[in-house]
Amino acid sequence: MWDLELRQEAFKIWNMNRLLCIHFDRECNEVQQWYIQQVTTGRIVSSILRNQMEAWKDYRTNHAATMPKLNKLNEETEDVKWVNGIRNMSNRPIKLRDIYANLVIKKYTSIRLTDGQKNLRYNININGIFQKISKVIHHKGRNTLFRFFARCLPGINHQRMNCPIDSCRQSITDPYVHFFFQCNVTTSYAPAIVQIVNHLSFKKIHLWNIHATDLTTINKTEKVYPNLISIVMHQMWKIVCYNLFETDKETKPIPEMNTAIIQKELIDTINTAKWKLLKYLAYQSKIKSNNDDVLLKSVFNRSWQTPLKPLPIPHN
Ligand SMILES: [Zn+2]
Repeated sequence: MWDLELRQEAFKIWNMNRLLCIHFDRECNEVQQWYIQQVTTGRIVSSILRNQMEAWKDYRTNHAATMPKLNKLNEETEDVKWVNGIRNMSNRPIKLRDIYANLVIKKYTSIRLTDGQKNLRYNININGIFQKISKVIHHKGRNTLFRFFARCLPGINHQRMNCPIDSCRQSITDPYVHFFFQCNVTTSYAPAIVQIVNHLSFKKIHLWNIHATDLTTINKTEKVYPNLISIVMHQMWKIVCYNLFETDKETKPIPEMNTAIIQKELIDTINTAKWKLLKYLAYQSKIKSNNDDVLLKSVFNRSWQTPLKPLPIPHN
């Protein structure tokens, strides 16, 4: 999360530091020479320059304490008014982003993460996952999983205190992880989900957690697992929505998480994919006489293998 005040402060420091480095390397142009002159004589006519110099001095004093290299700089400059600027390991002027990061750590004791960056903490390849999600056939499941990782599911982003669901009330650090994997409501479904997934997919899971949704670890040709996970996530989202938002719990039944429902969604998805492939093959055979039907069908069957058998397209 940006702190714009610190960002501005970091810019002042960076600009001043750059000027000092250029001066030290004797590469100043006329304007820069004029600035340096003001600094060395102590007669500063530009208020912008004065602010930048103050910011740089503060930065040097504060960070000298934690960085031995800067301590040395401090000693060197005891009497001499201006020498070298602060440099990094490769002897370049210290970068703006490093200055900003140091200021943030000083103020907040750690880097502030955005919600998106929090995803990275779970060790999931966020760039890769969206590519995988885009290949999911199950429409609503794909949508929900996309919104889960993009963190744009409606109505839960602001949940930062305690879980509003009566049977839970745990404190929430991350609403997405909480509602899908940690909430008392959710965890009560976890054993059922593990059983459902393992019943329908050759790729097995041991636990229901965010790593089960990490599709980047799945073989490129495997189709059942990504679709199955998307279906489960969508069903879970329906359950979460019911608990959070349903005002008519008396008459509306809670959405179920059971093998029959998930299996039906999976079979429908496979049939949709099969229909698309057969359409494609029919079209191909119209425009050219020799086509690779047999190959494409066997690749398809391999991609959509489930322990349920029979294969979606019969052997011929
Ligand atoms: Zn909860």
